[in-house]
Amino acid sequence: MSEYLSYKRKNLVPYTPGEQPKDMKYVKLNTNESPFPPSKKAVKKAAEAAGRLNLYSDPECRELTLKIAELYGVEYSNVLVTNGSDEILNFAFMAFCDDKSPAVFPDITYGFYSVFADLNLVPYEEIPLKDDFSINVEDYLNINKNIFIANPNAPTGLILSLEDIEKILKSNPKNIVVIDEAYIDFGGESAVCLIDKYKNLLVTGTFSKSRSMAGARLGFGIASSELISDLNTIKYSTNPYNVNSMTLSAGIGALEDEDYTKRNIKEIIENREYVKKELKALGFSLTDSYANFVFAKHNILSGKEIYLKLRQKGVLVRHFEKEKISQYNRITIGNKEQTEILISKIKEILEETK
Ligand code: PMP
Repeated sequence: MSEYLSYKRKNLVPYTPGEQPKDMKYVKLNTNESPFPPSKKAVKKAAEAAGRLNLYSDPECRELTLKIAELYGVEYSNVLVTNGSDEILNFAFMAFCDDKSPAVFPDITYGFYSVFADLNLVPYEEIPLKDDFSINVEDYLNINKNIFIANPNAPTGLILSLEDIEKILKSNPKNIVVIDEAYIDFGGESAVCLIDKYKNLLVTGTFSKSRSMAGARLGFGIASSELISDLNTIKYSTNPYNVNSMTLSAGIGALEDEDYTKRNIKEIIENREYVKKELKALGFSLTDSYANFVFAKHNILSGKEIYLKLRQKGVLVRHFEKEKISQYNRITIGNKEQTEILISKIKEILEETK
């Protein structure tokens, strides 16, 4: 730390992204990326846009915003396109949270929420999940704080019903409720259909998972036009050109290739159910994940041991040190070949430790 760092930032503990090691070629199942390449249409559009990089990108992201609005059946004014969904989550903390309007989220959830809260000097409370890692909806009723919920949740993959989400929205009319739908395409029901009914709802989404564009950094928010307008105030006060033109074009290409996305989602869901079945047979207990990952604990080997042994064998999964989940690993669902390698390496490890 330099002597120049602002006192406001001295205690900031940044988010730790999943490893992207370069020492050898791993079967990479640690950051919930898609195993499939982006759509050919996305790649072609991005390449065309590269030739126009002398110009600033469209600050309104007009064409892509229209396409997202069309996909979700909402108005143009209900959508804001951002640099990954991380950016819109940060915008939400910046726009709606402060010392008088603090934040709450589950104790086990996407690790960036607490970092964004700290970054923006927002007080927050982490509400413990139940022992089975599900959310106790009662804990979120009438709490008078801004609520951040990932649905499906990460790293558990568990989902909340729209009925429960509505209860939370209804009982907190003075606060915003952010439903982070990074993984919704793999299971669960989107809350976008509720934005006209609840002015306090912000739904966030991403192209990083089901649309294979994690490296392009493309996310979006869908909400009432009033909330989107507030978020735009933040965007135009930080970085009006927040999404680069290659990414914007790639996003348009991806949305013109929905059949490709649907095929990939179908394969991930099939592979997920296969992995769940195989892991159960090998002595693991798992949450009922609806996302593109599973969350699994072995009945004998520790979470850390499995993580380290898989790593030695060239398979990367995500292990968290947090005590409540330290016996678990979050394993991204890959393609068929990666899935087979994962299962065979786990079988090897179990054989070796007999
Ligand atoms: N929300 C959740 C629950 C996530 O797990 C992630 C990243 N893996 C994000 C949001 C952010 O994704 P991105 O910035 O790539 O859109």
